[in-house]
Amino acid sequence: MEKGKIIILSGPSGSGKTTLHQKLLQSPAFKGKLVKSLSATTRLPRVGEKNGRDYLFLSKEDFLDKQKRGEFLEFMQVFENYYGTPKDKVDAALKKGKSVLLCIDVKGAKVVSSKYPDAVKVFVKTPTLADLKKRLSKRGTESSKDLELRFKFAKAELKEAKHYHHVVVNGSLAHAYRDLARILNKEIFKKAVLAKSAAKKST
Ligand code: 5GP
Repeated sequence: MEKGKIIILSGPSGSGKTTLHQKLLQSPAFKGKLVKSLSATTRLPRVGEKNGRDYLFLSKEDFLDKQKRGEFLEFMQVFENYYGTPKDKVDAALKKGKSVLLCIDVKGAKVVSSKYPDAVKVFVKTPTLADLKKRLSKRGTESSKDLELRFKFAKAELKEAKHYHHVVVNGSLAHAYRDLARILNKEIFKKAVLAKSAAKKST
């Protein structure tokens, strides 16, 4: 049986990592091989977000109860809210030989790496900070106070990119997705994917 791996995706809010990870999970190439770790959070759902699909939305009390029972692989307080990775789902998927995708912040990534040293860490960022600011404001899901907080946090997170195995620059979604899919193909299946141009030349 193939051995599953933990794939960690981090990057500032607005870098496009949510869209990228959703695309990965929908791709036939990774179907049945890659599963998402559904994080728990105490933050309120955004418009369009669904409990059990995007996050497990919990009250602070329920979250802290789970934390006390040791149910999280890691948990962090990010932007005044708690976020955590439920441990049971990750272990169950790995046992079945599946890889697990964790979309978590840089501090959580450090904790997971210390527990699973062969976890692969991928950092997603925008080409510039100005691009990030533009994307965050365009999203329109946060208050201006929250936006400022996320932007400040992003600057600190970007400093951590150098500790990641791979950095994907999301200037265009198509290119970033192609780069990310190549990384995962290599890391999960040990398969180097030919660049389109190279593949064309050989046909
Ligand atoms: P958002 O509120 O925008 O969905 O997420 C805010 C930040 O929390 C993002 O950087 C996201 O990756 C991170 N995050 C989401 N789930 C988890 C988790 O389970 N653990 C940790 N440490 N961070 C998380």
